[in-house]
Amino acid sequence: AAEEGFDIEDVEGAIEAAGHGPLPVLAVVGRPNVGKSTLVNRIIGRREAVVEDKPGVTRDRVTYEAEWAGRRFKVVDTGGWEQDVLGIDASVAAQAEYAIEAADAVVFVVDAKVGATDTDEAVVRLLRKAGKPVVLCANKVDGPSGEADAAYLWNLGLGEPHPVSALHGRGTGDMLDAVLEALPEAPEQTFGTALGGPRRIALIGRPNVGKSSLLNKVAGEERVVVNELAGTTRDPVDEIIELGGVTWKFVDTAGIRKRVHLQQGADYYASLRTAAAVEKAEVAVVLIDASENISVQDQRIVTMAVEAGRALVIAYNKWDTLDEERRYYLEREIETELGQVAWAPRVNVSARTGRHMEKLVPAIETALAGWETRVPTGRLNAFLGELVAAHPHPVRGGKQPRILFGTQAGTKPPRFVLFASGFIEAGYRRFIERRLREEFGFEGTPIHISVRVRE
Ligand code: GDP
Ligand code: GDP
Repeated sequence: AAEEGFDIEDVEGAIEAAGHGPLPVLAVVGRPNVGKSTLVNRIIGRREAVVEDKPGVTRDRVTYEAEWAGRRFKVVDTGGWEQDVLGIDASVAAQAEYAIEAADAVVFVVDAKVGATDTDEAVVRLLRKAGKPVVLCANKVDGPSGEADAAYLWNLGLGEPHPVSALHGRGTGDMLDAVLEALPEAPEQTFGTALGGPRRIALIGRPNVGKSSLLNKVAGEERVVVNELAGTTRDPVDEIIELGGVTWKFVDTAGIRKRVHLQQGADYYASLRTAAAVEKAEVAVVLIDASENISVQDQRIVTMAVEAGRALVIAYNKWDTLDEERRYYLEREIETELGQVAWAPRVNVSARTGRHMEKLVPAIETALAGWETRVPTGRLNAFLGELVAAHPHPVRGGKQPRILFGTQAGTKPPRFVLFASGFIEAGYRRFIERRLREEFGFEGTPIHISVRVRE
């Protein structure tokens, strides 16, 4: 490395940074209007990320990446939630339940000017039950005079209230220090794998694509494992199902089975559930209704799984209803609408007839294998050397940036760090990704490539 002009410490640092694996998840919960979205904006430090919502506008984006004091984590924003037909308490509770479940730690936001309400108390009970670390944010403390209001919130029994003004930034640094103490270094989920627990599947897809039908089919025909498995935490919302001779954990199935029909905020509720399930899973099975046109919502759900860095399988359901014409148009739609995930294994199933159910497990196993693939450094560099020689980066401003060497910094999903002599254009990065896939497979997995440029 040194002879290529890189400092060995830079190289090691870059590899460590790229190989972080899954990030811990922080959920921000609380009643409407306490300032959750404002706080999330503060935490992620990007004003444009959370836009002011108009009622009725679909908001799919619920998780964001953040960094504080050199540590990275994900933030789940529940600010897009609206009171629905169930009433304020039920909707806040449902929102909090989903968010808390996916999280490694929770920021509970209370409006210190208003003080604790009955709804707040209800959330406190949920937080106690969940047993996750909680940081209490006493928001809207815009100046020293508000500190007394914050102190009242000791009454909630959640420990020290952190006086914060999400709007002006006051106190947010101290609160984030507390958040870092509450967050585990690595998310809880990774421990399940380390202990050899069952692999975790998120079955996701927009409403009515057939998720609960599929779940019933696989749970009904196969043995549902009811006994406790050693070394695994059994979550009541997860279902342990034996499929193809292997035990799997379908995460967050309560969200599939409990078919809460909400009017307002239903899309947002679905997005939150999807994000929660994806965070808890290793592999996402995205179910798409093949009898209907592939929608923007289908694409967003696929993107959610890809951005979360999960292994991916796409299952086209309701195959029993397809005629020849629809099959023809479906193939065209898949090419144009889901071309960017052509690497995902695909199965054409029918939850109704049971068609091709047996192909689901092999597809999931393929995706997980791709997700865990590690390319030895020697092989990677031999490949990069040939690639760069045969297809050099275009010359820019009289210079030709070159990939000098690379290494795979991590798996789940595969993460690469490439070291280059100059700026590598996006087109060339995509070219490298394509060639990496051709050479090493990576079926069913997103891959991350970061490029370090020599000073
Ligand atoms: P959410 O519904 O919990 O996401 O709440 P929002 O973030 O949308 O905030 C609700 C309202 O409270 C908005 O008008 C914000 O500008 C205001 N707000 C949020 N944080 C603060 C704060 O720290 N101080 C004051 N004075 N107002 C705030
Ligand atoms: P979910 O909202 O994704 O859980 O979808 P459901 O499992 O509730 O299914 C929605 C509707 O699609 C129900 O009426 C199901 O009977 C129907 N459905 C689900 N799978 C299939 C399938 O493979 N073929 C057909 N024809 N209908 C299906």
